[in-house]
Amino acid sequence: MNIRFGPAGIPIQCKGNSTLEGVQCCRELGLEAMEMEFVQGVKLKAKNAVEIGKVAEKLDISLSSHAPYFVNFCSVIKEKQDTTLRNIYEAAKITHAAGGRITVFHPGYYQKLTKEEAYEIAKRSLRGAWEKIHGEGIKIALGAETVGKRSQFGGFDEVIRLSQELDFVEPVIDFAHMHARGDAVLKGENDYRVIFTKLEKQLGDYVKHFHSHFSEIEYTGKGERNHIPLGTKNVPPFKPLMKVLAENGYSGVIICESPKLDLDALKMQAEYRALLKKRP
Ligand SMILES: [Zn+2]
Repeated sequence: MNIRFGPAGIPIQCKGNSTLEGVQCCRELGLEAMEMEFVQGVKLKAKNAVEIGKVAEKLDISLSSHAPYFVNFCSVIKEKQDTTLRNIYEAAKITHAAGGRITVFHPGYYQKLTKEEAYEIAKRSLRGAWEKIHGEGIKIALGAETVGKRSQFGGFDEVIRLSQELDFVEPVIDFAHMHARGDAVLKGENDYRVIFTKLEKQLGDYVKHFHSHFSEIEYTGKGERNHIPLGTKNVPPFKPLMKVLAENGYSGVIICESPKLDLDALKMQAEYRALLKKRP
């Protein structure tokens, strides 16, 4: 039983600005995970990714990546489908080269589609992408993130269903997004318990190796506006989540997406570890 904490990108306390330095910095700070941010495009070269992977393995930093934002698995336009495929393929390839376990992506947009149509198109496009990825020997999970806007395809139930029907897809629980989109109201321990109970029921041992994002969030009726540091408004609150994790022995990764990346990741880690020590 263990939760690894890490930043979404290179720690802000890191003097260097390369991914390799970011990994080393995580170790110095006492963090155990890092998400490589490919959100504006995959710029890391395969050769460098392999080097980063070696260092990450030696320092025991678990790597993942966030695929480019220019992905929409619900699109019916050929050009957008091609862009989606290229971006997810590149992200998966480079993450695999670095020894990462999962590449996270935002599934798509409903646009004019019904929810069911969006789901069917996304499922078909994901299968197509996987054929190419898997066909080239890239072994990695594709992480469908719970999105933060109501116009986006990727609600909690939708990512669970994708994971059930496609064995290469795993849900990535972005707690702030779920709260902002109205997929959950996260105020206390019981609200987090409901999420994990559902995951356990629907996806079995996924709660032993889950991947997630955490930060506080500002939002409107349409959903997320921006991620904010822990302790700003306590929405959603991180302490009850740490308690549920420590008490139930779940294992996985929490990537901190607040503007204070590593500082807030350390804050969560300290709270979690203190709770573990209090266990009987
Ligand atoms: Zn994301």
